[in-house]
Amino acid sequence: MSVLTAAPAQTVCAPLPVLGGDVTVPLVTGGEVAYAALDYAASAPALQRVWDDVAAYAPYYGSVHRGAGYLSQLSTDLFENARKAVAAFLGCRDGDQVVFTRSTTDSLNLLARALPADCQVFVFETEHHASLLPWQDGKVTYLDAPRSPRQAVETLERALADRDPHGPALVCVTGASNVTGELWPVRELAAAAHTHGARIVLDAAQLAPHHPVDVRDLDVDWVAFSGHKLYAPFGCGVLAGRADWLREAGPYLLGGGASRRVTRRADGGVDVEWHESAARHEAGSPNVIGAYAIASACKALTEAGWDDLVARERHLVRTVREGLAGVPEVRILSLFGDDAPRVGVISFVVEGWNSSHFAAALSAEYGIGVRDGLFCAHPLVRTLLGGDPQTQGECGAPEAAAGEKSLNAIRVSFGAGT
Ligand code: PLP
Repeated sequence: MSVLTAAPAQTVCAPLPVLGGDVTVPLVTGGEVAYAALDYAASAPALQRVWDDVAAYAPYYGSVHRGAGYLSQLSTDLFENARKAVAAFLGCRDGDQVVFTRSTTDSLNLLARALPADCQVFVFETEHHASLLPWQDGKVTYLDAPRSPRQAVETLERALADRDPHGPALVCVTGASNVTGELWPVRELAAAAHTHGARIVLDAAQLAPHHPVDVRDLDVDWVAFSGHKLYAPFGCGVLAGRADWLREAGPYLLGGGASRRVTRRADGGVDVEWHESAARHEAGSPNVIGAYAIASACKALTEAGWDDLVARERHLVRTVREGLAGVPEVRILSLFGDDAPRVGVISFVVEGWNSSHFAAALSAEYGIGVRDGLFCAHPLVRTLLGGDPQTQGECGAPEAAAGEKSLNAIRVSFGAGT
């Protein structure tokens, strides 16, 4: 029995009023319709409690930061309290900012736009594309895949030691891999970054749903995560951390909400004074429900207790890995080895099987929804499959023919609420 309850997924064949028709998934196991979504790493089902909290907000729905009316003031308070709840969830320092974004991808792109001039970015090739790609317009050093946490720290230290020590630098690292589930040595990488005068941003998209993330404890400068992986609905994410680079950068989007004062100049142009708070990067009407839902999920996880959540997930990981290890054709993908600590994300190939066909069969015959492909981490998956990280390929690339080496993999992932 789970300590947290995911909203039921038994809507198969149910009429969806908005779409005006039946959603028909021809899925029958043992005479009953069944569906298990083991794809939490992509998007975890929102908790029932989060949906309940969102529904409870409905009668109070109002504009944010704009209206004088009671409902507007209430919505504004809820939005700002959600910010405080996220700051508490992440153990933010005094003066840190919590910016609501659309997702982890959005958060890291925002930070990439806020880098000081000449900032050099260091990123492992093993990253999810969300943390691998946003830095491409600047100076970026891609680090080879390490084969142990210790090698990761040594690789980073060597690269940082070689850099120009006077310019700004940023390290971007994932806390838990969306491919192997393995935990990265974030605290040690942060210490290495700071020793060499660099800052560090943690991509916590996969870590935050499975482990406590404490900015001060890990000593990271920023954290990014997505609501839809943290048991909240789609559409809202977070970038939290140091205010200085965010305040000194131009706004991420230009528009109302980010601007404090706009005046017409004598020469016909327009002068803008931008906010210095998080609102600077939140132009437009914000996603109040998304922020409120994230705050609700943070609260639910905290109240469920991390010790229990981590212990339960560890048990699930062990059970699934042991089960898979009992199938001779299965090869579990791992960068750091079997004993590395990991979250509930397990990727594997089945020798002699086309991964896409295998995943389709798991769904059609057993009602088990998994992911197949390269998981938006192409260089990493190619390395793990024993291929060349530089070869061509696409997400969901066609599989190898029977008997050839697999070109993509299968992933099962789960977490609180499973
Ligand atoms: N980082 C990691 C490690 C991820 O697994 C993902 C999504 O799978 C992302 C970033 C991007 O998250 P989003 O698609 O919510 O922006």
